[in-house]
Amino acid sequence: MRKIAAENVPGKYYVTARCIGCTICPEIAPVNFSSNLDEGYEYVCKQPTTRQEERLCSEAMEICPVDAIGNDGTEIQISVK
Ligand code: SF4
Repeated sequence: MRKIAAENVPGKYYVTARCIGCTICPEIAPVNFSSNLDEGYEYVCKQPTTRQEERLCSEAMEICPVDAIGNDGTEIQISVK
């Protein structure tokens, strides 16, 4: 199994050790992805809780150039606002 960044918060999305630190995912979904600048990789700092965040996390996963973002398929709790 691929190593997963320790900083990932538990939940649906996660970043694996394949991450090359290109910073695309925090640019797409800055609420949900953060950077470990010392180590040069990104991680999931907040699981999505709105439809907008879910859409952006999904978009980041699709765009990631090294397929480093995972999705375990669980349903997320969407806040109704
Ligand atoms: S898009 Fe992929 S490779 Fe780029 S920082 Fe995010 S997880 Fe890492």
